[in-house]
Amino acid sequence: MDEPLKQVYVPVVATPGGEKTQLGVLSSEQDAWDVMRAFLSKAGETQVVTASIVAWEIDFVGEEGSFELATFDRKSCPVCTELSFWVEGEDERARCYYSRCGAWIEENRFEPGRWDCGWPSANWNKRSDSFESAHKGLMEMRAKSNSAGMSERMPSREAWLSEKDRERRTIQQKKFDSMSEDITE
Ligand SMILES: [Zn+2]
Repeated sequence: MDEPLKQVYVPVVATPGGEKTQLGVLSSEQDAWDVMRAFLSKAGETQVVTASIVAWEIDFVGEEGSFELATFDRKSCPVCTELSFWVEGEDERARCYYSRCGAWIEENRFEPGRWDCGWPSANWNKRSDSFESAHKGLMEMRAKSNSAGMSERMPSREAWLSEKDRERRTIQQKKFDSMSEDITE
């Protein structure tokens, strides 16, 4: 027989304005992580900037019936610069959910204080001694791959959001521009 349910897990995402959306109510923590990861991998087109997985006690009376198991913060990726780099907790772990990039940072499971990072697309891995230096390592990796002449860009979250806003306002103009580019090319 299944054990009686004691907790449920709720993945929640939020926009910069604090508007929250629940992605579901799951009886298993693993399912909640799966739902969250599936969302993050498709979050590129959304305005979501933070996310969390909240555990709720069942049949609990009082104010402290829930707690955050994990939090996620959206940042620009040190490698591909897309806003698809999700940092977990207080710089505990991070991963780029852009499918063609997949850059990641994680503390080593067997050696506390050792941080590993990698860029699967380039089959590249590195070890360092802190989250920040792993982050720097990824940026250096990008700089190397960009030395072929690609321009570097590193939009902040705010810049990206205002860019989205601008895109919406000027979408017709952009269509027109690309049409005229096609003609002049
Ligand atoms: Zn990336």
